[in-house]
Amino acid sequence: MNRVVFDPGHGGVDPGAVSGNAIEKDISLVVALAAADLLAARDDFYIEVTRETDINRDIELSLEDRVAFSDRQNADLFVSVHCNAMAPGSPANGFEVFHYYGSSAGNQAATDVFKAIDRKIPEIAPRSVKEAGFYVIKNTQAPAILVECGFLTSDQDRPNLERPAFQKKYGEAIAAGILQYFGV
Ligand SMILES: [Zn+2]
Repeated sequence: MNRVVFDPGHGGVDPGAVSGNAIEKDISLVVALAAADLLAARDDFYIEVTRETDINRDIELSLEDRVAFSDRQNADLFVSVHCNAMAPGSPANGFEVFHYYGSSAGNQAATDVFKAIDRKIPEIAPRSVKEAGFYVIKNTQAPAILVECGFLTSDQDRPNLERPAFQKKYGEAIAAGILQYFGV
């Protein structure tokens, strides 16, 4: 059984990036749940998510809580889903997938997910697989990746990322990369 924990970024009082009507916490939730649902329908995956809704309290789900949850689930892979933002007017666009410094399993997972998104989501330009020290990918016991689905500040990315059908398709692309990683 392949155990995967999905972590939709932000939530509750923490919206993440906001640009126009696009709110990172909402987009990351739909994308992550689409990927989670797809894998949960298989009998060779055990799937958990750190949040299934916007958090119905005046709090945010802490990064420590997310890591502790993954560790309690004894995850084989932790997948955090986010959207990027730059200063308004910045031309930055595209998706990127992060793993922790020097993690070879993290690099493999990030590379597989990056390639799947590149193949299935031509609307968002590929940036690259990158190493970083973000709290959640540094501290989970499981190999971990963090997907930045695109830039909400990009006039190129945002119109796609705002569409529910596109968010679902994005989740399916991430799921395809995870299947590749587990070799199933
Ligand atoms: Zn974020």
